[in-house]
Amino acid sequence: MVRILKSVHGGIIKHAESGFPHEVCGVLIGADGMITHYRECRNLNTERAHDRYDLDPVSFKEADEWARGNGLEIVGIYHSHPDHPSIASETDRQRAWPEWVYMIFSINGGKYNDARAWVLEDFDSGFIEDAVELVEG
Ligand SMILES: [Zn+2]
Repeated sequence: MVRILKSVHGGIIKHAESGFPHEVCGVLIGADGMITHYRECRNLNTERAHDRYDLDPVSFKEADEWARGNGLEIVGIYHSHPDHPSIASETDRQRAWPEWVYMIFSINGGKYNDARAWVLEDFDSGFIEDAVELVEG
């Protein structure tokens, strides 16, 4: 179960819609199994920005430092799928780490469709869908 504050979920939707038709990406931050913050990161992939993302390591490091400074940690990554379902691709799986949750926001024609969360049991396993629970706040 992935628990995420409604305000965080809504903020990521705005980020994903505003970035359409390109993929946007960022980090999920929280503690104790709850996602309480997010940070937008630059997508360094400009050649295939419609279906690839390369999360900027500089903005990742800044987000990591901010999280640690606030007693939190990075718990996962989000990115958008412009005009594609919120299903993790093979590329997404190959880049994923088992400790993190991967949330994918599907944006159709610039409007939010849905969001799903994916986790790995280990490096060799396929993605497993995890339920998303929106928490007031
Ligand atoms: Zn993807």
